[in-house]
Amino acid sequence: MTELVVVSGKGGTGKTTLVASLAALARDAVIADCDVDAPDLHLLLRPETTDRSPYQGSEKAGIDPNLCTRCGACASACRFGAVERAGEAFRIDSLSCEGCGACAFVCPAGAIAMQRQLSGWIQVSRCRYGVFVHGELRPGEEASGKLVTQVKMRARELARAEAARLLIVDGAPGIGCPVIASLSGAHVALIVTEPSRSALHDLKRVAAVARQFRAKPLVAINKADLAPDLADEIAAHAQSEGIPILARIPYDEEVVAALVAGRPLIEDGGGPAAEAIRLLWERLTAAIGLKTSSATGVAGEGDGNQWTR
Ligand code: SF4
Ligand code: SF4
Repeated sequence: MTELVVVSGKGGTGKTTLVASLAALARDAVIADCDVDAPDLHLLLRPETTDRSPYQGSEKAGIDPNLCTRCGACASACRFGAVERAGEAFRIDSLSCEGCGACAFVCPAGAIAMQRQLSGWIQVSRCRYGVFVHGELRPGEEASGKLVTQVKMRARELARAEAARLLIVDGAPGIGCPVIASLSGAHVALIVTEPSRSALHDLKRVAAVARQFRAKPLVAINKADLAPDLADEIAAHAQSEGIPILARIPYDEEVVAALVAGRPLIEDGGGPAAEAIRLLWERLTAAIGLKTSSATGVAGEGDGNQWTR
């Protein structure tokens, strides 16, 4: 089973649009949405949820007033101002508590316990394209990297159970903890970028992170025709790094229409963006060894098929 993670250096590059179309083209892949801070793949895949499990990713301190001797050591130890004095008593402001445990460590009376909190949910669903696993953080929760790991573990279990050949992961944007969790254990990182100076910078960073995790980087340049010179610059950089460019996807009004309709572009799009994604899929399946008959012999820019597994 090949684990493909689709990432981008920042949000808004069209990553989720591409993932939805890849899911529709693959048909029998397991799909995971690891953009848990802002999940939106479900809007295009329209899944029916079959299981919703609570996710407890963070802890908060709690004071037992019957054990508390009101010494104030916890308030002195807390760097986040989360221990409040209410008259003679002390209590924890759960919104300010970061769950570091320092107060429990210093409490001489053993009056503070760390309590697991509901941080979000892991959902398993069925959609027209296969099994779909998605995570959702509660507002204000920050343990997104841990939730990404849990979503991926669940997706891998299901992929093995379904004997799926491909696990497609919609990774988190950026290069922070959730992206690192998205890329951990992945075989291939498809980096979606766009022709801008900042995107080239982001591409360099996310490709470096992907390589750190031994995920083979591939690149798709979205809206490539809006700034052809910059697209060429990105392609030249990728080629100098030995990273194949799988597609230059042009700007296409049909993308917006498909988003508004809540469907993968590939489903009813016959425009230039949909065609570019179909070609990307053929190159991708060839590059990772999931060749279809139509994919045989197709290679991307700078691709010597060195990523074939
Ligand atoms: S450190 Fe423990 S005993 Fe002291 S005020 Fe805090 S909870 Fe109470
Ligand atoms: S767990 Fe950390 S942040 Fe929370 S109240 Fe205790 S010391 Fe403060």
